[in-house]
Amino acid sequence: MVKSGNKPITRRRFLAGAAATAAFAALPAAIHAQRGRRIAVAGAGLAGLHAALLLQDAGYEVIVLEGRNRVGGRILTLDHVPGRPEAGGSQIGSNYRRLLAAAGDAGVRLVADEPGGSLPTSYLIDGMPETRQSWAESPRNPFPEEFRTITPDRLTSFLLREPPFRQTSDWQDEAMARYDVSASEWFRGQGLDEAGLALLGANNGYGNRFADTSLLSLYRVVAGFQRASAEGASLLEVEGGNLRLPEAMAARLAQPVLLGETLTRVESANGEVRLHCASGREIEADATVLSLPVPALKRVEFSPALPARQREALDTIVFNKVTQAYLEASVDEWEASGIPGSIWSNAEFGRLFASRVGDSGGVRLTVWVNGDGCDRYDSLGEAEAGERLMADIARVYPDARGKLHPRALVRWAADPFSGGSWPAWAPGQIGRYYPALRQPAEGIHFAGEHTAAEFSGMEGAFESAERAAREVMAKLA
Ligand SMILES: Cc1cc2nc3c(=O)[nH]c(=O)nc-3n(C[C@H](O)[C@H](O)[C@H](O)COP(=O)(O)OP(=O)(O)OC[C@H]3O[C@@H](n4cnc5c(N)ncnc54)[C@H](O)[C@@H]3O)c2cc1C
Repeated sequence: MVKSGNKPITRRRFLAGAAATAAFAALPAAIHAQRGRRIAVAGAGLAGLHAALLLQDAGYEVIVLEGRNRVGGRILTLDHVPGRPEAGGSQIGSNYRRLLAAAGDAGVRLVADEPGGSLPTSYLIDGMPETRQSWAESPRNPFPEEFRTITPDRLTSFLLREPPFRQTSDWQDEAMARYDVSASEWFRGQGLDEAGLALLGANNGYGNRFADTSLLSLYRVVAGFQRASAEGASLLEVEGGNLRLPEAMAARLAQPVLLGETLTRVESANGEVRLHCASGREIEADATVLSLPVPALKRVEFSPALPARQREALDTIVFNKVTQAYLEASVDEWEASGIPGSIWSNAEFGRLFASRVGDSGGVRLTVWVNGDGCDRYDSLGEAEAGERLMADIARVYPDARGKLHPRALVRWAADPFSGGSWPAWAPGQIGRYYPALRQPAEGIHFAGEHTAAEFSGMEGAFESAERAAREVMAKLA
């Protein structure tokens, strides 16, 4: 992987060839004369903030409302945890051109994402330790002969290494419908039995269960990684934490984001929209951009009702479950804990990422659980969930008992403002619902990562914002 050292990535370096940004700037001058027209944006994540800034720069009066008491949405730097880990969007590809341009505009610096303090990864399968070297001959290896040398964390990418489309945006083409099928069926066709499937899916981050996961969505994820490496993308992060980016974007808005305002209802009639918030606040505008993730958007009432297919999409699509715990240990505690380093496991606690914190030599452990395995923790109160997680770790590593100190628990699926990390596309859903999700209604435009065509993740949020802002401008021109 190409690393760019710890040098700030300047805007100039990334704007060269930033076709999307240039195309946006080339919008007809006429639509830049929009003073007096008001746009309400719901959601102050990257998509909402970027749409708001584009519309503000085009001359509209923009007001942004946000349900949480902070901006950033699924960007969440845990400033109070040693080492300031990212609980949400963490890795910024150097091919995220829109994000890089927005960071330049907001005066935020990007630096290389140095996994410097990370400790080496080993495996824990059915409670027994494994290494990359031991895996091929392990009695716990359930994979067919030709795949036995490949560890479970790498087998999905290996099997999907030849996506059926050439460009990441092609995943939504009708011709791809034949891949919009159950991933588990397809993996069975590759020779995996139930034990192999269970292990492959143990930490699947793109579907809560393989049986409910679309093969096409997995192909899209793998294609996204391939695209990044083909473009020589290195990984970046925002200096001081990724949350600094949405904070700096929000600071560019002429009107401060209205925090703690939860959108509950949207009415549209006679070329106007009216947004109702749980607090009783009402906002009138000429158009609105709704950037809420699907699980949050589905609770918003619409008058008139959304078209049937769009309603069905909101009611049906679920997001991937992710639960994370951040634990800390001193040097002595870590050495006595019996945990060898970072762990990929099929135990209840999923994966452990261990890294040294600064010069102290102490260790921060991030526990990361994906999919239905999160229910075990999300169904409990926060204190009980933390205790259960520690007990699950201590069952395998008894010496760790009392030596790992919880600093934060982040449960994305249980958070009403996100409902999970990203869409967990089920078989058939991409073809049936993807176009409906971004379909504008009268005065209502939809943004958010889940509506992007080409990119997923943070850059997808920016891509979706540009499309939604364009729609608004074209409609109001
Ligand atoms: C654990 C995790 C790891 C990730 N890792 C990466 C990564 O490494 N690289 C990458 O590119 N991407 C990553 N992502 C994805 C990335 O963070 C998201 O795709 C992106 O931040 C989504 O931005 P958004 O604006 O579309 O949505 P959001 O950030 O979710 O913004 C939507 C906003 O709407 C608000 N809202 C919700 N309901 C209401 C309501 N009723 N009224 C008002 N406001 C409301 C929310 O509070 C939120 O602020 C990760 C995400 C998670 C959760």
